[in-house]
Amino acid sequence: MGHDTQPTASHFVDGQYIEDTGGEPIEVIYPATGAVIGRVHAATPAVIERAIASARRAQGAWAALKPVERGRILRRAADIMRERNRDLSVLETYDTGKPLSETLCADATSGADALEYFGGLAASLTGEHIPLGEDWAYTIREPLGLCVGIGAWNYPTQIACWKGAPALACGNAMIFKPSETTPLCALKVAEILHEAGLPAGLYNVVQGAGAVGAALVGDPRVDKVSLTGSVPTGRKVYAQAADQMKHVTMELGGKSPLIVFDDADLDNAVGGAILGNFYSTGQVCSNGTRVFVQKGIKEAFLARLAERVQEAVIGDPLDEMTTLGPMVSAAQRDIVLGYVDKGLAEGARLVCGGHALDRDGFYVAPTVFADVTDDMVIAREEIFGPVMAVLDFEDEADAIARANDTPYGLSAGVFTRDLARGHRVIGQLRAGSCFINSYNDAPVEAPFGGVKMSGVGRENSKAAIEHYSQLKSVYVRMGDVEAPF
Ligand code: NDP
Repeated sequence: MGHDTQPTASHFVDGQYIEDTGGEPIEVIYPATGAVIGRVHAATPAVIERAIASARRAQGAWAALKPVERGRILRRAADIMRERNRDLSVLETYDTGKPLSETLCADATSGADALEYFGGLAASLTGEHIPLGEDWAYTIREPLGLCVGIGAWNYPTQIACWKGAPALACGNAMIFKPSETTPLCALKVAEILHEAGLPAGLYNVVQGAGAVGAALVGDPRVDKVSLTGSVPTGRKVYAQAADQMKHVTMELGGKSPLIVFDDADLDNAVGGAILGNFYSTGQVCSNGTRVFVQKGIKEAFLARLAERVQEAVIGDPLDEMTTLGPMVSAAQRDIVLGYVDKGLAEGARLVCGGHALDRDGFYVAPTVFADVTDDMVIAREEIFGPVMAVLDFEDEADAIARANDTPYGLSAGVFTRDLARGHRVIGQLRAGSCFINSYNDAPVEAPFGGVKMSGVGRENSKAAIEHYSQLKSVYVRMGDVEAPF
């Protein structure tokens, strides 16, 4: 790769990099050129066993540590991540193809936020005292044990931290399996955590495709699974976890609505639609890919949108001037182009884009379809690429009913100057992570997650603690036991 921050082996297990070339090779491809820039090997059963055994071994002592000490290690890791932001961002760009202008401010920084936030929270996680007259009960907040995190390819550093930080803060161990498409970044997260003082075995990273994920999920020594990925994979992983009654967090896909009323600040609304469709080349689960625009401003919205899309700087992601990079893989590019063809075949009006770029790498031009109707495939299925569908609507009730007419429920956004309407509409949208006059912000302080098919559980914020710990309740009798015989 020619970059000195590249991880030195395939897996990070029990506090060190380890290699087992017996595992199937996985090529690391730089999406901007298509060049092979590295190779890792899928975890063999021996690597998986070592990861699970070392995690189980280490977890008890970690849980017994003073929480403030656990937190200190996470906060130290956050500081190291921030110090190394540039190197980590370059690696993220090699892994995903996302432009450095994004990775410098959205990946290691977001990971550091999670480590800092949950590090700070660790010492305040307590049980409660419950008075029961003469008797009393108390609760102890306990870790779940060994958690498995399985990541998607769009935010490899962020996902590794969003799952790892709350898991570790609560006293769990974690084994993280990155997407085979983006195997590099999570290894650096593990390296940094251990440099910050995390004892060996508590944050292991193993490579592999779905089979490695399934081997981890099916192991009886694993207590919880947190997946970020697609709905079909979520269904499989949830079912497998259910077999052994494991805890789950599911962060899955969406087809989220973004509703623009005719009183909205036009440029802000266009900016929201751009953020919600083209950031990370459209590879964001919470994207507002169904943009409902009120009829009166539709053409003005489209004209301003087309103008601003022209301003996208598409090119070398390592050039900080670049604002739009390639898709993560040739396969994802082909999926996206397939959807573009479907949109055209179904009669949507192509406003801009609609084609791959004639250059190396997996580039797709930012694409906007107008006159999209609710029944079109491009309005129903998650595309996961830079393809925006603009639909028009008459009134508030119409917009709400149609926005909710989807099996998904991850996000929703409203642009309006009428704040009463903003809150009223958001109150009726069935989605977990919502925005008023904004789109796609994901601060660690606020819960993130979906309803309906978009998932189960919440990441970030104090809400995540509920998904990485459980309460033991203890009844204490102060007097004699009165048994019936
Ligand atoms: P997947 O849902 O297929 O994969 C997510 C993760 O789960 C990957 O690490 C994958 O491994 C792993 N996995 C796959 N099968 C299993 C299994 N049976 N048991 C355990 N783990 C498993 O997402 P993809 O990355 O393949 O992307 C496909 C689609 O998913 C995209 O087109 C997009 O629609 C959606 N997606 C949604 C994301 C979101 O944030 N909601 C993020 C990324 C994608 P591996 O891929 O290495 O085989």
